[in-house]
Amino acid sequence: MSGMRKVTAILLLFAGILALSGCKSDNRELLNKKIAEGELLLAEERFEEASAYFAELFDANRDSLTVMEKHEFSINMAKSRENLQEAERLMKTEAFRSAYEKLKEIHPEDLGGQERKAELENEIRDRYLFTVQKLSEEKKYEEALSALDEYQDMVGSQEELEVLRSSLLADLIAWENPEKPEPVKKIVVLDPGHQAVQDREKEPLGPGSEILKNKVSSGTRGVASRVYEYELNLLLSLKLRDRLLEEGYDVLMTRTAHDVSISNKERAEMANEAGADVFIRIHANGSENRDKQGIMTIHPSKDNPFVGHLSEESLRLSKALHDEMIKESAGESAGIQAMDNMVGINWSKVPVSIVELGYMSNEEEDLLLQTEAYQAKLVEGLVRGIQKYFEENKE
Ligand SMILES: [Zn+2]
Repeated sequence: MSGMRKVTAILLLFAGILALSGCKSDNRELLNKKIAEGELLLAEERFEEASAYFAELFDANRDSLTVMEKHEFSINMAKSRENLQEAERLMKTEAFRSAYEKLKEIHPEDLGGQERKAELENEIRDRYLFTVQKLSEEKKYEEALSALDEYQDMVGSQEELEVLRSSLLADLIAWENPEKPEPVKKIVVLDPGHQAVQDREKEPLGPGSEILKNKVSSGTRGVASRVYEYELNLLLSLKLRDRLLEEGYDVLMTRTAHDVSISNKERAEMANEAGADVFIRIHANGSENRDKQGIMTIHPSKDNPFVGHLSEESLRLSKALHDEMIKESAGESAGIQAMDNMVGINWSKVPVSIVELGYMSNEEEDLLLQTEAYQAKLVEGLVRGIQKYFEENKE
C-alpha cells in the first residue's frame, strides 16, 4: 500500500468513527430533549400525562436509567394526586377522619399536593374546633369533649388542644355542680323583753311624741314557777337565736344578759341601726284574770301615728309567727292584736312584732312555759313563722 492510500484509509476510518459517533450523539440529544419535554409536564404538575409520557419513553429506552427514574417518579406523583382527589371527595362527605388519613399518602415531593394537604388539614382542624365550640356554647360539654378527643386522637397531643380540653372539663364540672348563689342573709333582731332591774326614767312614746313612758317597765313573773319574765324571755330568745343561725339567718340580740340597762326605744334603735329585716320582741303575758292563757302577737295598727306605714307588714309577720306557733305547739290562741302604745314598736323603722309566749299568770301555762319540750315547740313555731314571712315576701 502506498503512503497515499494508507492516509486515505486512515481518514476513511476516522470519518466512519466520526459518523458513527455523530449518530450516537444525535440519539442522546433527541432523548434528552424528550426527557425535558416530560419534565415540563412534571413541572406543570400534569402528573397523569407525565406518567403516560414516560411509560412510553421507557418502553423505547429500557436502558436509560434517567427515563426509568422519571417514569417511576411520575407514577408516584400521579398516585399522590389520586390520593389528594380522594381526600377532597371525603372532605365533601364530611368524613374528616378518613380524609385526614388519606392526606398522609400525599407524596413529600408532590409540592402542590403538600400545599393543598396543609390547607385541608387546617380546614379539618377548623371544622373540629368549630364543632367543639358550638357544642360547648350549647352546654353539651360531653359531646364537645368527645369531638375534641376524636380530633386529638387523629393529630396527636398538642398543647393548645390540651388547654382547650382542660377548660372544657372545668366547664363541664362547673355545669354539673352549679354553685348556688350565696343567699342574701336576712337579718333578724331579737329583743328579749325587760331586764333584771326596771328603769323608771322616761322616754317618748314615739318620735316627736310628748307622751312619756318608763324606759323599761317591770315584766311579769310566773305565779307557780316564780320565774321572772325577763329570765324566760332571754332563755327562749337564745334558743331561737341558735335555731335561726342554723337556718342561715344573721341574728342580733338586743341583750344576752339580765344585768343591763337598755330602754325600749334604744332596743328599737338597735334593730334600725342593724338594718334588721324584722324586729321580734319576745315577751310573756300577765293578767289579773288567772284563767287567761294562750299565745298572742302584737303589731301596730294602720292608724299608728308613728309606724302606721309598717302596720301591714308587721301584721303579716305577726300572723305568720302566731299561726306557726299555734301549729307547732298546739297551744291556745290569745289572738293577733293591734297596739299603738308600745315604745319598742313605735320607734322601729322595720316590720316589728311582739310575741307574747303565754300567760305566766295562768298556773298551768306558766308551768308549761318552763318545760324544755314546750319551749322547743314555740321556738320551732317562731322559726317557721319567720321563714314563712320571708318566703311570702319573695312572691
Ligand atoms: Zn313583757
